[in-house]
Amino acid sequence: MSQNNIPNKTADPYDVVVVGGGPAGLQAALTLGRVRRRTLLLDSGEYRNGSADAIHNMITRDGTTPAEFRAAALAELKTYDSVKVREATVSEIVQVPGSGFVVFLSNEGVVAGRTLLLATGLRDQLPPTPGLPELFGSLAAHCPYCHGFEYADTHVAVLGSGPQVPRMALLMERVASRLTVLTDGGKLDPDHHAILDAAGIAVRPEVVTDLRRSGSRVTVAFAQGPDEEVGGVLVSTTPVQSAPFADQLGLRLLPSGCTEVDPVGRTSMRGVYAAGDSAHTPATPIPLSSVVAAAAAGKNAAMALDADLLTIDHGLLPPGAPKLASKSS
Ligand SMILES: Cc1cc2nc3c(=O)[nH]c(=O)nc-3n(C[C@H](O)[C@H](O)[C@H](O)COP(=O)(O)OP(=O)(O)OC[C@H]3O[C@@H](n4cnc5c(N)ncnc54)[C@H](O)[C@@H]3O)c2cc1C
Repeated sequence: MSQNNIPNKTADPYDVVVVGGGPAGLQAALTLGRVRRRTLLLDSGEYRNGSADAIHNMITRDGTTPAEFRAAALAELKTYDSVKVREATVSEIVQVPGSGFVVFLSNEGVVAGRTLLLATGLRDQLPPTPGLPELFGSLAAHCPYCHGFEYADTHVAVLGSGPQVPRMALLMERVASRLTVLTDGGKLDPDHHAILDAAGIAVRPEVVTDLRRSGSRVTVAFAQGPDEEVGGVLVSTTPVQSAPFADQLGLRLLPSGCTEVDPVGRTSMRGVYAAGDSAHTPATPIPLSSVVAAAAAGKNAAMALDADLLTIDHGLLPPGAPKLASKSS
């Protein structure tokens, strides 16, 4: 959209438009609501853990379903009169120099914000093993810390042949009663094979033709050889940004494909903040993905954004910031 075609919606912008209603966006909205920042949260309703039975490894919420988590968060946000939550899909975001951002919704609505907080998350591309999409989030998972203990004391399969396979298998060593790596026709690095052999972890190299739920277990069928019954499957995914806004705005990206942020969520563009799975600092090769980390990043970005608005509106520097030299000194 060219600058000339931008509707005149910038007269009364929100202080912040938060795009994304997962843990990062919800927590950011809570933080902003508590200081009465005029905040609009837009949520298209597609969450990374949408297929998961439950959230695990989050203190006080271990075993809560993602839907319960969101319902509780939305109920809490109702207390804060400056926060508006809207179910809407954002299609495009345009920067309007000097006044902020215009956010176009796919139903043709338009809203404006002085600042933006992108909390749009990642999506997982799965390997093409038949049956895997139906199991992902319950009997198949990508993170032993989130969904590993649920397979405790059962025979667990680790699917794949990539560099992450031995780590995933060894993480499950104390939890599973037995482990088998299914390379699905792929070739393990010989050093990794040796590590697995030394740990007594079996490797099956045949192509996997099907993963099928049988009660609370998974039946693994192979191109050759007998089926295996396992209590769960761990598999690496390829995470990709779920929304195009970092590209649209020309934000600096990291080799992971995520948006580069400073430790408090500032992106390479003034006025744009990012939090949650889709953003991280260069200090880590990938985002530290989890519900609690996303929520923490949302809170930090909201506080940084609020402090930056205080600087813009009142000239008040954030705590610890060096004073600007006066012209006469
Ligand atoms: C199967 C599975 C199970 C998991 N289990 C756990 C677990 O047990 N414990 C744990 O800590 N972590 C778990 N995770 C990781 C966890 O889901 C993520 O770390 C967390 O959801 C990241 O939060 P987020 O707010 O960054 O993104 P998300 O939760 O993915 O939220 C993104 C938000 O952005 C919105 N959005 C995207 N595009 C647009 C658009 N164009 N317009 C408007 N809104 C948009 C979406 O609708 C959504 O509201 C799991 C992940 C997966 C895949």
